[in-house]
Amino acid sequence: MTVTTPPNVYDAEPIPEAARAEIERLLSSGDLFRYTAPQDAPVALLERDFAALMGAKYALAVSSCSAALFLSLKALGLPRGARVLIPAFTFAAVPSAIVHADCQPVLVEVGADYRIDLADFEAKLAQGADAVMISHMRGHTSDMDAIMAAADRAGIPVIEDAAHSLGTTWAGRRIGTIGKVGCFSFQSYKLVNAGEGGILITDDEEVAARAVIMSGAYEHNWKKHDGHNGTLTAAFERWQNRLPLYNMRMNNLSAAIVRSQIGEIDRRVRDGRAGHDRVAERLNASPWLEVPPPLAPELRAPDSIQFNLVGMSDAEVDAFTAAAEAGGVKVQVFGRSRDNARAFWNWRFIDGEHGAAPADLPQTRAMLMRACDVRLPARLTEAELDFIADALVGAAAQAMEEERAYGT
Ligand SMILES: *Cc1c(COP(=O)(O)O)cnc(C)c1O
Repeated sequence: MTVTTPPNVYDAEPIPEAARAEIERLLSSGDLFRYTAPQDAPVALLERDFAALMGAKYALAVSSCSAALFLSLKALGLPRGARVLIPAFTFAAVPSAIVHADCQPVLVEVGADYRIDLADFEAKLAQGADAVMISHMRGHTSDMDAIMAAADRAGIPVIEDAAHSLGTTWAGRRIGTIGKVGCFSFQSYKLVNAGEGGILITDDEEVAARAVIMSGAYEHNWKKHDGHNGTLTAAFERWQNRLPLYNMRMNNLSAAIVRSQIGEIDRRVRDGRAGHDRVAERLNASPWLEVPPPLAPELRAPDSIQFNLVGMSDAEVDAFTAAAEAGGVKVQVFGRSRDNARAFWNWRFIDGEHGAAPADLPQTRAMLMRACDVRLPARLTEAELDFIADALVGAAAQAMEEERAYGT
């Protein structure tokens, strides 16, 4: 079967039927706050399920991945002004969480394969760093063996921003469990959709207890977290009344919506990867499109595809995106759309009041000027995937042949 109308890549999947009875129960009772029930509130059950799924000791569900990233920095006890290394290719929420925690983001170059440049990482580490927040942007995993080894040598913690990496594995280990803390998002454009929401996981008692209290477990509400045979009790008692409450809790409705999708994760990962690889193979057959391969230990869980435009001038890039759009597929070239939140030069808040653009990172800038982004949700059929691939390959040929024909 061939598809003749462009597929809608923005619509979400329906929320599983299983969520409805639970949501109806919560609406009838009005029991929306995670700390009202004496035990087994939907948020606490989500934390238990998610920790088990990931093989982590502790999970804390919060209002967003940004909140999880912020709380991770606070829970690690980083001092004001601490230098936190991040890849320069990420979403603005990442340096924002660092600024929110009164720390200083230090941007590291990223290569044409969207992964952190290890030489620049080592150089910035040598200049002095207090933590690493490694953002697996669009699910692309940097070399975690090299990053962990370098961070361990420097004696600094690694936080994984796995917002968009649920289901990805590195050498068989789940992404988000390799660093000291892993953070995930349940915002609608991620693998699990609750509209908004986030969760952090860790095996570290001190980090877990501090994050729970600061997320808003006031008074003795931390008792409703300790489903782990009392392993956190001593840490909770040590930190009681000594930490600010930032109130970034998740509510029961969001947790019910997330829990209903946990059983869908494996299918979405499998279908998302198959769909991605199908489109990637077709794009790589074009001389003007290139999908960088994953690193060897990496098994991805993509819900979008990124590819580089090869040998195109700026005018040809614009002709390509226009032709793709005319063919029904909207392509974003990260660096060529105005005010893009993934282009580091737009993160002028890093400089505080002055609002100066961060220092230039030529390699990351060059990548952003040619890297394209197209959503490929797991629910797309093969015919819809082929429609998208054909539109992209055709648009590239059209852009290049037109340019050649008119002799630029
Ligand atoms: C979506 C995203 C975030 C932010 O997640 P929120 O839940 O919206 O705060 C952070 N980092 C990456 C890589 C993301 O994709």
